[in-house]
Amino acid sequence: MPKVLLTSAYKPFDTFADGSNMMDLYAGRLAKNQDIFTLECDYPAMPLYLIAQNISAPSVVLENPTWDDFTRELSRGYDYVGIHFAASLFFDRILRMCRYIKQHSPQTKIVLGSYGVVCLTQNFQEEQELRSLVDHVCYGEGVRFMRELLGDPVDAPIRQHFPPYYVRALGVVKYPFNNLVSALGCNAGCEFCATSAFFKYKKVRLVSPAELWEAMKAYLKERDYAFLWIFDEDFFADEAYAREFGRLVRSDPEVNPERVLWGGFASVRALSRFSAEELVKMGVGALWIGIESKYSALPKRMGKDIQQVFDELHNAGITTIGSFIVGWDFHTPDNISEDVDHVVRLNPTYSQISSLMPCPGTRLWKRLEEEGRLRTQGFRWKNFNLYSAMHEHAHMTDEQVFFWVDETMRRLFYTNGPSILRTYEVYLNGYRSLKDNPDPFVQGRVRRLRKWCHIYRSGLLAIKVFAPSDAVRKKVDRMKKEHAELFGPVGPAIWCKSVILLLVAACLKLRRKFPPRPRQPRFRRFEYNGAGA
Ligand code: SF4
Repeated sequence: MPKVLLTSAYKPFDTFADGSNMMDLYAGRLAKNQDIFTLECDYPAMPLYLIAQNISAPSVVLENPTWDDFTRELSRGYDYVGIHFAASLFFDRILRMCRYIKQHSPQTKIVLGSYGVVCLTQNFQEEQELRSLVDHVCYGEGVRFMRELLGDPVDAPIRQHFPPYYVRALGVVKYPFNNLVSALGCNAGCEFCATSAFFKYKKVRLVSPAELWEAMKAYLKERDYAFLWIFDEDFFADEAYAREFGRLVRSDPEVNPERVLWGGFASVRALSRFSAEELVKMGVGALWIGIESKYSALPKRMGKDIQQVFDELHNAGITTIGSFIVGWDFHTPDNISEDVDHVVRLNPTYSQISSLMPCPGTRLWKRLEEEGRLRTQGFRWKNFNLYSAMHEHAHMTDEQVFFWVDETMRRLFYTNGPSILRTYEVYLNGYRSLKDNPDPFVQGRVRRLRKWCHIYRSGLLAIKVFAPSDAVRKKVDRMKKEHAELFGPVGPAIWCKSVILLLVAACLKLRRKFPPRPRQPRFRRFEYNGAGA
């Protein structure tokens, strides 16, 4: 039986000015630039675990190894090394790893997979050398690819059970979440979209609704997760699949509905076929919606008015992640501010604000190439991220694009407050609107919202003292009043926790006066026996 090593790129990863690293999902993206209220979370290297659980060969997974962790493991002797090329920005690291493998373990076959492999289609760095070092490149779904390579049945059912991850707030509060994969790719075919282009604009379904629910149930029995995230680029686009999954969730007598809260990606077009109450009855608690731009004519934005969608979700206690892109061809220095204000009015609970970056393989890349607007000469893949530029924008300079990326985050923070305050706001709204709903499943959600409102209430004092603006301070006062109206005066336990969190926040604020400490994701090593465990 061949021995397989599956690894991510080695750390330390590059960090931003505030010390957060590129692979921190919250500090680097969804709750970025929120002062001491910036959340932190390691980004899961799920494909490694998914492959390890679904091949017959015994394997070892290394997630975020240091260089020494990686070389030590390699010295144990492997027939295959599969490297998770999560993003093109890891190019230099992956190249170094491949050179080392070929030098020290020449019989080992190297397999590269995941979205970063698209840079191998180009020729402006050392792509040719990297291509010559690797034995196999997976452009597409990795489990099937590895099964084929190892001679396993390619259509065997998919097992999935990942180790838990944690979102951390104020350095001391942490809550667990986990992930599931339902499908990869998307057939909406938006011009800029790298993940759909990677799967040739097709949706690759991995599990049925029943299999997805069984995998979710296993998590729900394991611990009280803050949320479970389902990977499917537009979960509700396949209406029959989504409704069947929702039916299974709400009708299973083995599961306490209070524990069920899952999230996923959704387009406005697909969501327009569901009411917010229906979504709650399916167990939905968080949705990532591509805002992109108010001026955009993308078909996925058709249907209900986007403001109505966000408002209805928030009123039903469903948090949102809104992604917004700066630097479209229609963006000008004159109209961008209005677009940013539109995002602020939507009040996404979390947000991903980025510059428009063309990815190889997308129609956007091809068009810009044809128009002579790509700037590949001298460009290094390590600089390819959500906040960089590698093409001529139609009406804005790079500096203007970067300014408006930061300005959007700043306006969201100064107007709507930190994401933890926005989450609390949504939970209060949800509790108020659902508390008298007679549905037993919804009552499970109501109990959960009540519990989380009490947890978040303890953070209000710290948020008020260190609020970025008067608008946020007033919002805190308003929410305190609403909390009192819904739940009565707060008790001594909440007061004690409030004071502790205030002291913690004060320490963090003081710490910010010194140079930031670069933060790196933790290293994890798991062994799999080739039978899914
Ligand atoms: S709907 Fe979303 S996932 Fe699908 S192609 Fe458009 S941007 Fe990509």
